[in-house]
Amino acid sequence: MGNYDVNCLDYRQVIFCLAKTVVVLGGGAGGVAAVNVLSKTLSRNNRIILVDRKESYHFQGAFPLLMVNQRRPAQLTKRLDNLERKGIEFFQAEVKQIRPQQNLVDTSRESLCYDYLVIALGAEHHPETVPGMAEGSYNPWRFEGACQLRHKLSRFKRGKIVFFMASTPFSCPIAPYEIIFLLDDYYRRRGLRQQVELTLVTPEPTPEPLAGPKVGESVRQMMEERGITLITQAKVLCLDTDQNRLLLDHGIEIPGDLFIGVPSHWGPAALRGSGLTEEGGWVDVDPHTLNTRAENVFAIGDAAALKLPVTKVWAPKAGIFAHYQGEVVARNIASLIAGECPSFRYTAKGFWIMLTGSGRARYCTVRYRTEPKALITMLRPTRAAYLAKLAIEKYWLVRWF
Ligand SMILES: Cc1cc2nc3c(=O)[nH]c(=O)nc-3n(C[C@H](O)[C@H](O)[C@H](O)COP(=O)(O)OP(=O)(O)OC[C@H]3O[C@@H](n4cnc5c(N)ncnc54)[C@H](O)[C@@H]3O)c2cc1C
Repeated sequence: MGNYDVNCLDYRQVIFCLAKTVVVLGGGAGGVAAVNVLSKTLSRNNRIILVDRKESYHFQGAFPLLMVNQRRPAQLTKRLDNLERKGIEFFQAEVKQIRPQQNLVDTSRESLCYDYLVIALGAEHHPETVPGMAEGSYNPWRFEGACQLRHKLSRFKRGKIVFFMASTPFSCPIAPYEIIFLLDDYYRRRGLRQQVELTLVTPEPTPEPLAGPKVGESVRQMMEERGITLITQAKVLCLDTDQNRLLLDHGIEIPGDLFIGVPSHWGPAALRGSGLTEEGGWVDVDPHTLNTRAENVFAIGDAAALKLPVTKVWAPKAGIFAHYQGEVVARNIASLIAGECPSFRYTAKGFWIMLTGSGRARYCTVRYRTEPKALITMLRPTRAAYLAKLAIEKYWLVRWF
């Protein structure tokens, strides 16, 4: 731009010179929200490029319903190239490396140059941290794993199901409880509950630890009433696939016939060496603006290293927050491109709806930046909350695609 004599340019050239390229890495909850808001707020001469290794988006919030056969895979899947009719360029490739000093992203196809970069690569799963986990359990946190589990559960009619979390943090703190309640409901409806034992093994000290003892106790009580075994503060050492048992520390052994396991979550490998990450490979961000250490680079969603203000424990990773963060960052980028001061702030407020079976759910409000501790409330199960959860799923899949 500096080499041009602006007086000699016609208005089309000026517009071209001012045009910016915004690259969004990851077409999940955060990335899809961000590109949608960008497409509404930026003029068409700017480029919006969405990069993802997969050709389709899957709505993770409905994976629990998929597992218990209340959804078909196609119902929660949308092709990312659908977004092209909104002026968003979809670039299917593996992100290999980010080079903030050069404003470049290296992908499996080519390097992309950006003016603004949004990192929304989510979390990576590492089942190898628990020997035996990859070969001996189903991962319901991945679309493929949830589909396989749906098939397996439809044929599983007798025995012990052990659902375990390898470590914290993991995406969506309510999801393990939601899934175990849905499994209970699934087997009750099929008249098989007497023949199927359900155990949930978690490293957490209590269900929903951020929400405090009252909420934890109410979830624990619901599990007890439904005959679900809960093992807390568990350190999973290995899954012994020869003898079908999960080994925990202190010599605890949990036999099972079907193991469902959520692997350790790490920050995305493509960011290692970028200078943007901290402990666990999560991206260091300003908690209000989601700016990273590099100029014009933002990180949102599960990949961002957000913590609670006083205790410094990990903030919950969830789609609702990824979505809100995507909106904030997109609006601030639009302001920057327009030459205005970016004024949008992420407030760390949201809500979750935890399905509890029998067409009911518990509505939770979440404010995790309050001091000295997060403020999370959870209402009793209602039909209205269940219907609200279904409405959100529809809204997501229709509004953004
Ligand atoms: C079973 C389950 C239930 C859930 N229920 C809820 C709920 O009820 N409410 C709620 O708020 N949240 C829920 N969540 C959590 C929510 O889905 C996640 O927090 C959210 O999807 C995170 O969004 P994200 O954009 O950060 O990452 P993701 O949605 O995971 O997207 C990351 C994207 O990046 C792509 N990617 C990653 N690495 C690369 C690479 N190197 N190259 C190219 N592409 C790459 C991936 O393919 C993916 O599309 C649930 C999650 C699960 C698993």
